[in-house]
Formats: sequence, C-alpha cells, structure tokens
Amino acid sequence: MATRSSEDFVSGDPGEPAVEGAPAAGVVLATRALPEPSLSTLLPEFDVRVLGYGPNEDELAAEIEDVDALITLVSDPVTERVIAKARKLKIVANYAVGVNNIDRAAAAARGIVVTNTPGVLTDATADLTMALLLAIARRVVEGDRMVRAGGFAGWAPDLLVGRELRGKILGIVGPGRIGRAVARRARGFGMTVIAFGRSPRAEDDPEDPPRVSFDELLRRSDVISLHVPLNEETRGMFDRDTLLRMKPGSLLINTARGGLIDEAALVVALESGHLGGAGLDVYENEPAVLPALLDSDRVVLMPHAGSATAETRREMARMVVEDVRRVLSGEKPLRAVPPESSRR
Ligand code: NAP
Repeated sequence: MATRSSEDFVSGDPGEPAVEGAPAAGVVLATRALPEPSLSTLLPEFDVRVLGYGPNEDELAAEIEDVDALITLVSDPVTERVIAKARKLKIVANYAVGVNNIDRAAAAARGIVVTNTPGVLTDATADLTMALLLAIARRVVEGDRMVRAGGFAGWAPDLLVGRELRGKILGIVGPGRIGRAVARRARGFGMTVIAFGRSPRAEDDPEDPPRVSFDELLRRSDVISLHVPLNEETRGMFDRDTLLRMKPGSLLINTARGGLIDEAALVVALESGHLGGAGLDVYENEPAVLPALLDSDRVVLMPHAGSATAETRREMARMVVEDVRRVLSGEKPLRAVPPESSRR
C-alpha cells in the first residue's frame, strides 16, 4: 500500500505544504496518523509520511530504507530485520510506554535511539485497571447484557451478587508508575495492597506498597494486577503453575501485556473454578482473542485501551513528535529507553 505524505495525512488538519524546492531535513514515517497537533508540526521542515495501516514485518521493512525517524504503535514489529533495512534511521519513537515491539538491542547496535511516552498514560491505565476490577467484582457487563436482553424481572436477593473490594488484598506485580497508581486507587476502595517487584520499596514514597515474595503474593492476594513490562524475563510469568498457586477464587487483572499470561492455561484455571474471574485489556496474540474467553461470563474484555483517553493520547502524540524533532535536530531525546540489556 502506498504511503500518504506531507500534505494529505491528517484529515481536517493538512498542515503547511512543503516549501517548493527546499530539501526536507529528513523523512519521518509514522505508521498511523496521530491526534493533532502533532505530525503536522513537523511540516514543512520534514517529509512526513503516514502508512495509515498496521504494517507487518515485511511491509515495514519495505518502507524503512530512506526513513530518518520512525513513529510506531505497540502493534508494529520493529524487528532486527526491519532495522537492518534502514540506512538512515536515527530514532524509533514508540507511541506507548511499553517497547516490547522493538528489538532494542538491534537498534542500539546501529546507534538508533528508542523513545517512549512514560508517565502521561499512568492515570488513564490505572483507571481502566480499576474499571476492569470493579466490572468483574460487581458483574457489571453481565448485568448490562441481562438488562438489554430483557432479563431484568425485578429486584431479588440473589440477583447478580458479586464481591466487595473492602477488606480484600490486592497484589501488584510490578509496582512502577502504573502499579503504584492502581495501589492508590485500590486503597480508596478499602483494599490492602502488597507488591512483588524487582527493586526495593521506595522509602521516601509512603504510597509505595510493601514488598512480598512472588509466592506470598500469589498465596495471599484476592486480586492480582499485572504491571510489569513484557520481556524475556516476564513472558509467560502467569503460566499453569503460577495460576494454580493463586488463591482459590481470586481475580486476575491484566492491563500490561498479553504475553505475561499463558492464555490457554488461564482458560483452564477459569473453567475449573480455581480462579474467580479475569479482567483483560491485552492478549497473548493481539488482536486475536481465544474463543473460550469470548464465551466466558467470568471475564471482562477490553481492546487494549489502557491509555485511550483524549487527554492522554494527545499528550502521547506531542511527546513522540517532540523527541523526533530533537533527535533529527541533533539534540538528545527527552525519553530515551535504554537497550534491553539494562534493568528496564
Ligand atoms: P514502570 O514504571 O517501568 O513500572 C514497571 C515495574 O515493573 C517497575 O516497578 C519494575 O521494577 C517492575 N519490573 C520490571 N521487570 C520486572 C520483573 N522481571 N519482575 C518484577 N518486577 C519487574 O512502567 P509503567 O509505566 O508502570 O508501565 C508498565 C507496563 O504497563 C508497560 O511496560 C506497558 O507494557 C504496560 N502498559 C499498558 C497499557 C495499556 O494500554 N494496556 C498502557 C500503558 C502501559 P524496577 O523499578 O526495578 O524497574
């Protein structure tokens, strides 16, 4: 598919046309148009191209050769093969905080900077985490379906009885920015929060939850919420064995990355009744979702919408463009992500 370029990429906000005859200071390829003002602010200085679709590895490799800056979504595979095809690439700016779609080691080996959008999506993602938790605990989606289907026959003592959050233990896996924001919210609902992380608890942050071992977190938590990045260390962290070690009847919420959970094993844990329910925003093989999850009343499913608020998405767009402009102007980016070998 041909790329759109410069003048026609943002509907309703075409930006400045490129100055006739003046050479562009670089080529910026964005896989999708972003909320404006963002890409249009790079005009007319840069030649801005927008693919307008989610490319696979071959498609991205075919577009990358003369590109100086690449702006990607979490679903875009910036693999070693794609990076090897780039002759001029200086920055991959991911429109996300997670960067598991990018081969950072391959980028670092070629001196290509990888940037992300940390912090600005923390509250939006923490809000959605609580929305999933409340929806599962109080059977909100089941209730909505029942009412729409004409199944509400009047108040009854046993109608859609759910569970209370007050007094329950929430286990956060990965108490970073989003994990701590979820902890703050959960305390407001009367939950006690514990966490399993990599770094020790920040003594200067009273909101940082106390750390426990992974085993203790699994054993004690009534709800477990995942907030670690996806990497080789965390992939499949919630496999059959881990799920079996969770407290019987407990709930699992995942607004981090689908690859943290073995989805087939999750289905078994739900169908056997060992787990009480799950709230998922992300999937192992996105956008595919296991049919057994689609059929289950004990899961609430969202389409990877953790950061999907107008405010957050606008700010994410501003951040990626800011770092692209900086790197193409020879300045340091504000949000460089270290290569994979580091502790992030
Ligand atoms: P963050 O601040 O870097 O927090 C990540 C936390 O995980 C840190 O506490 C980190 O420990 C910990 N951690 C990393 N590897 C670990 C391991 N192997 N075992 C235990 N703990 C580990 O990141 P964030 O901004 O909160 O974002 C977290 C993740 O959420 C992102 O990576 C992204 O995948 C996901 N996310 C999803 C959505 C969505 O739309 N659903 C939106 C935003 C983010 P250290 O302190 O030692 O680094």
